[in-house]
Amino acid sequence: VPISAPRVLVACLLASLVACTGSSTLDDAGTRDDAGPASDAGPPVDGGAHTDAGPADDAGPPVDGGAHDDAGPANDAGPPVDGGAHDDAGPANDAGPPVDGGAHTDAGPPDDAGAHDDAGLQTGCEVPTALPAPIETDLTSLDLSTTGVVRAVWFAPADRSFAPGLHERIERLLDVTEAFYRDEMALHGFVDDDGVGRSFTRARDADGRFDVVFMRGEQPSSFYHAHPNSPDAPGEALREMFLRLPSSFHQDATVLYFYDTFVVDGDTLLHTGQGGSAAPWQGANAGYALIGAHVLGVGFSTVALDPVKQACLFDDEAPSGLVDYAPEGGFGPLSRGAWSSVFVGAVVHEIGHAYGLEHDFVDHDGDGIESNVMGNGFRAFGARFTTSIAAPATVLGPWSATQLAPHPYIE
Ligand SMILES: [Zn+2]
Repeated sequence: VPISAPRVLVACLLASLVACTGSSTLDDAGTRDDAGPASDAGPPVDGGAHTDAGPADDAGPPVDGGAHDDAGPANDAGPPVDGGAHDDAGPANDAGPPVDGGAHTDAGPPDDAGAHDDAGLQTGCEVPTALPAPIETDLTSLDLSTTGVVRAVWFAPADRSFAPGLHERIERLLDVTEAFYRDEMALHGFVDDDGVGRSFTRARDADGRFDVVFMRGEQPSSFYHAHPNSPDAPGEALREMFLRLPSSFHQDATVLYFYDTFVVDGDTLLHTGQGGSAAPWQGANAGYALIGAHVLGVGFSTVALDPVKQACLFDDEAPSGLVDYAPEGGFGPLSRGAWSSVFVGAVVHEIGHAYGLEHDFVDHDGDGIESNVMGNGFRAFGARFTTSIAAPATVLGPWSATQLAPHPYIE
């Protein structure tokens, strides 16, 4: 049963103080005035404001990026706000010392260990298949001849490895995202000449696979957690990506920056700031999304290599061991399935920002629950696959569809 509890947006969090997103509308109403986004910036959530908030700046373009979503206000708002987030965001920042404090700084290597390494491809939904681990990409031989496509870089600190099957799982994450936009755009009547809903196109390698750049950082994970003013920012990792990748990598494309710098601190994840923004920055139609590696699972899977098995993952009732805002609203411990719904949905949301979509908290169908991927509705993404997620399934609202349609990279 759909709950009317607070559903705060999380997603776009990002870095630093600024960050985040969010906001919600529902809950905080009072407090935040919801303002959050709205007020400050003006209609668009991302408004300008934050774009640059402090820390963000250091990081370079991408960083702020994220930011935008909602920046400032959110943090101030307090818990709900970050809500979103993540958990990390808001509260964390405020918390100050404690937050970063101990936890991650050291945590680095040891912590993760378990967590992501093996990507746990377990779950009873799929029989684990022996897959190769990606090998580090030779940055001097990138094929960047095709523009207008989605590119991705996966950044792993020097003390973390690329998990077996990682490339395949990233590809599945994009399959799910692309299908969402294709199906939703078709429902709104935005189809190509063959009557197929319009969506984005991925960069492909010579073998036809999603062309992901796998980069090993020059520093251990603790280094990327060290920024004293932006404990949740991926800024150091992004900075290194920008220093080492050719500028043309970011040009005239939609770039997904994945950074495997998160750490698990009890029931909370740290260093998971995410965000997304669109051009103009590296080309008139360019955009990017910042995506923490945690979205692919923390000891369990969020995407199934066999598409038929995807619903099974969203049905997984085993405890995730983590807390966040549930698909139906309310903050607390999440099952693996609910957690997967929230974070796969978050990726779809951030990629929407990369194509210029703004937040949309409007209850278009009047059922009392806002289900937009660009609002808080992204959390119920799993409801598109299974009825075990008790909230109306995530949709692309009509305003977002209309805004996306003229984008030259959406074909
Ligand atoms: Zn957002």
